[in-house]
Parts: sequence; C-alpha cells; structure tokens
Amino acid sequence: MKTKKSQDLFAKSKHHIAGGVNSPVRAFKSVGGTPIFFKKSRECYIYDEDGNKYLDFVGSWGPMVLGHSNKHIVSAIKNQASKGISFGAPTKNELEIAKIIKSYLPSIEKLRMVNSGTEATMSCVRLARGTTNKKKIIKFIGCYHGHVDSLLVKAGSGLATLGVPDSPGIPEELSQLTISLPYNDISALDAAFKEYGDDIAAVIIEPIAGNMGFIEPNINFLKELRNLCTKNKTILIFDEVMTGFRVARGGVQELLGVTPDLTALGKIVGGGLPVGVYGGRAEIMNNISPDGPVYQAGTLSGNPIAVSAGTALLKQLANTEIYTSMEENAKKFLNPIKKYADEINIPFSFNVRGGMFGFFFSNSLPQNFDDVQKTDIELFSKFFRKMLERNIYLPPSAYESCFISTLHDEGKMLKAAKLAKESLKEIKDEI
Ligand SMILES: *Cc1c(COP(=O)(O)O)cnc(C)c1O
Repeated sequence: MKTKKSQDLFAKSKHHIAGGVNSPVRAFKSVGGTPIFFKKSRECYIYDEDGNKYLDFVGSWGPMVLGHSNKHIVSAIKNQASKGISFGAPTKNELEIAKIIKSYLPSIEKLRMVNSGTEATMSCVRLARGTTNKKKIIKFIGCYHGHVDSLLVKAGSGLATLGVPDSPGIPEELSQLTISLPYNDISALDAAFKEYGDDIAAVIIEPIAGNMGFIEPNINFLKELRNLCTKNKTILIFDEVMTGFRVARGGVQELLGVTPDLTALGKIVGGGLPVGVYGGRAEIMNNISPDGPVYQAGTLSGNPIAVSAGTALLKQLANTEIYTSMEENAKKFLNPIKKYADEINIPFSFNVRGGMFGFFFSNSLPQNFDDVQKTDIELFSKFFRKMLERNIYLPPSAYESCFISTLHDEGKMLKAAKLAKESLKEIKDEI
C-alpha cells in the first residue's frame, strides 16, 4: 500500500503543528507507523491523500452514525451557511435542538450548548461544586473526560488514593481534590464515600467506558453509585460524550435504566461539527449564570451551522431500530473473528452495544483499567497494522472503542471479518 503522501505531510506538519497533529491519538504512537492523512469520506469509507480507500471503524470517534457525508446533514450545513454563519446571539435553531435532545434524554430538563466534550464535563464539574458547596470529585481510573485539569488525574493503586496529576501543568493542590477509583469496584466506592462523603461534590463516570477500550459497568455497581450519590447529596454526572446517541439513542441512561443528575454530551450531538452539551435537573441547571451565580459562557456556543448539523443528525435518529441493526451487523464482524481466534488459540473477547463496540486480546472481558493493561496490547498493534494494509481503518490504539454506521451492512462486515481472520492467521504464523 502506498502511503508516501501521508508520510510527507506528517513530516512537514511536525514543523508547524505540535507533534504534527491536533490531538495526540492521531499520531499513531501506540500502534507504530505514520498517521494516514485523509481528504475525503463517503458513506462508510474514508479516502487518504495517496488514493487508498478504507472501511472506517472510527467514524470520527462517533458522530458518523449514518455514515459520512449524510446528505441531510450536508444540505443543512449548506443551507444555514447561506443564511448566516454566526450571530453570537440567540437563534430559533437552538430551541429546536434543545427540545430534540430533551426528548431523547428525559433526565435533561434544561441544557447548555458548548463547543466540545471537554467544555461540557468541565462545566458540569464547576456547576456541581457551585451547587453543593463541596470540593472533591470522584472519577474512575481509565475513564477519560476530556483534558480538564481536575479530570486529567489518575491515582496510584489502593483504595481512594488522592489524585496525582496525569500531566505536568496541573497543580497538585487541584488534583488532590480528585479521588480516582477503580471502575466497577463497589467496595472502593463505599470506602471513598465513608471517608470523604461530606465533601464530595460530584461523581463523574463514563457509564459505559469507551476510552479504555469498551467496558460495561456491572449494573449493581451503577445502581450503588446512584444510591450513594443520592444519600450523600452528591451530584452524579454521566459523561455520555461518547455513548449518547451511540449505544442507544438515549445513551446508557436509557439502555441500563440508571438516571444521572447531569449529563455531558459531545461528539455525536454535533453531527460531526464541534458541539458539546451539558444538562440535567432544572433545579441544578438554574444555578448557571445569568439565572444563578455559577459562571459559564461561550462566544460561539450554539453556533447556527454546528446546531444545524446536529439537528439534522438527531432528527434522523427518530427510528431507534437502527441501533438494533448496527449491533447485529457489528456481531457479523466480531463473531467469526472470535470463532477463528478460538480455533487458533489467540485470546479474544468483545462486547457490542448499538453502533459501538470493543475487542480485546484477552480470554475474558476486562472489568477495569488494570484488566485492560493485562490484555495483549502488542497483539492489538500488529492486528491494527495488518488490518490497515487490508484497507480497514481501526482506531489507532488498543484503548479506544470502534464505531460503525447504519451503512456498515452485513456484506461489508462479513468481508471485513474475513480480512481480520487473514490478519490473525499471519500473526499466528509469525509467532
Ligand atoms: C471525547 C470525549 C470527551 C472529550 O470531548 P472533546 O470533544 O474531545 O473535548 C469527554 N468525555 C468522553 C467520554 C469522551 O469520549
């Protein structure tokens, strides 16, 4: 496969853009090789600068639920652009999308639009602290909530260890207010609430984790989390930036029936344009400025073009059968791989919900970040490269989830499964 143009572009970009990319995972560091530069996308395919065509399992990390360049989204963007690009003032469009979002996620009584998932989670944390007058927050190890200072924290081992920053530039004074706990661990959660319960403003969680691979919560863990938050007057924040409109139309809260106080949305909600949303119980949301004292603002928030794209996507999600069929089609890809991996003794496990799935080179599904680190990450990198050579674009990291669209039909998935088996066979032969 020719990748010369991508290689040249990356080499040049490195002189002008920090690390050559505008978001670290794009640099292919964990899988090796150089990143592919794309120039076009149609349906479930993306096309690179060298003229290669790939079946896309990333979908811009979620938004492409209906495939790339969906005609309703494209025409909504064009139509709005011709009417006005930005006013920095309220529009009717924002009211319309707010109503749609609320109808899909009934736990959201009021919302605010922002420009990214990071902004959404950051605003949730400030609102939770401002509402409860408490300082500490709990997050779970391996969950990613954007590059917010307080949330870019993980802890050492052990129960309820106070946070050590994950990045230079985050003062310890701040990260010490973040308590990091293992995912799916009820006793660690209980212990943290026993110790710090009267000072925990919020718990933030990816209610299905998508940023340490794809990991589902144990339902009792999620229910206990809800109970503990209610009992301790702690605000429960579901970060559904990745799962909202993806695992089910109404996100994990619809799928698993556990209701948060606040929800952060992103990725999908903008239909591929930069949009984030946070919202929840009106009683809490009323604390935001100008009605309340908690400040949050945005010059381009609710931008008409971004809103038009999001609205055009959300409207097309009216029929929720698409989630069942995406899930079935994902299994058409994953089941044959699992069967073959078993035959040739390669450890393999997977999980799917709606249009999102994950797989691990391990015999059983990981329950938390520690488990993920014990899976065969090197095997993933080899598999990634062999699939890339076969024109299948997987997320370039074992710690990411895969995304498909309604256009990834049975035929395409079976063909991709065949290529996956070929890749595994080559890997096996090389061992
Ligand atoms: C992507 C992501 C974010 C951050 O969103 P950005 O738009 O990249 O700032 C936050 N939380 C989760 C769960 C995400 O997957």
